[in-house]
Amino acid sequence: MRGVVMHAPGDVRVEDREDPTILEPTDAVVRLTATCICGSDLWPYRGAEPVDHQFMGHEYVGVVEQVGDAVREIRVGDFVVGSFWASDNTCEICRSGYQAYCVHRVLMGTIGTQAEKVRVPLADGTLVATPGQPDADLVPSLLAASDVLGTGWFAAVAAEAGPGKTVAVVGDGAVGLLGVLAAKQLGAERIIAMSRHADRQALARRFGATDVVEERGEAGVAAIKALTGGLGAHSVIEAVGTQESMMQAIHSARPGGHVGFVGVSHDVSLPGEDMFMAGIHLHGGPAPVRRFLPELIRLIWDREIDPGQVFDLTLPLEDAAKGYEAMDQRRATKVLLTV
Ligand SMILES: [Zn+2]
Repeated sequence: MRGVVMHAPGDVRVEDREDPTILEPTDAVVRLTATCICGSDLWPYRGAEPVDHQFMGHEYVGVVEQVGDAVREIRVGDFVVGSFWASDNTCEICRSGYQAYCVHRVLMGTIGTQAEKVRVPLADGTLVATPGQPDADLVPSLLAASDVLGTGWFAAVAAEAGPGKTVAVVGDGAVGLLGVLAAKQLGAERIIAMSRHADRQALARRFGATDVVEERGEAGVAAIKALTGGLGAHSVIEAVGTQESMMQAIHSARPGGHVGFVGVSHDVSLPGEDMFMAGIHLHGGPAPVRRFLPELIRLIWDREIDPGQVFDLTLPLEDAAKGYEAMDQRRATKVLLTV
């Protein structure tokens, strides 16, 4: 089969890779319909994380082609969506809703889903089948559920977005934009998107943003305060992962407020005194997407939400390198790869 390999920073190639097979009785092999490039794939691409001949990709939807002997729920022919963490969904941590920390977890990025096929460990726990074969126009949204929507949703839940709340969203990448959508679905009263790109501002408004703040850093914080009677937002979603974005998020929250942080953290250190005086709740990390998948699939299937709008460039898998380039140069927010 064909699949993406990142040889070194900036060097993405589509190559022949071995077809996946069932290694464990709990595995499934899925023939992918679509996959995509994640903002987090840009960290190694830009040399901010080490990379050496790495299989890439952790988002996926497709049709089950084979299952191991111990797989009971998932069947050959099912159209499935899975999280970027494989999880058994039965251990104590999974049952508490934290499948990203499953005691048997496997990071799908180590297997690499930017490919024609993928082996999915712990298939019954990891995969969720859709009610039937989806219409083609639903595929991008279902793919978004695999990570960006699930991650934005977790950020909104962690930030306790809900009725009566003002939610500020730091970061206008795909996750931040879908955090806006999630906050809207969860009933937030006011949603402030922090973005300086006109096209992303427009999408944020389509997803439910009521206000846009273009300033960043402490000027961005001042703008949030100005919009909230000097208090700050009840809920803040952080979807970048840098020192500046974390401090912008923390300082934008009012005392007693909640920050949900899902941007993959890079060289962030939180000043203790600042944290002590902020009086806020901080919760985040890798999203337990599996917790939300059944509900997200239902909302997409019933056409109540259309998160697939975050994909603004679609390319064949063979052109993955062009997709990385477009995202790196910010010519695309999120790239879908058709298989
Ligand atoms: Zn588990």
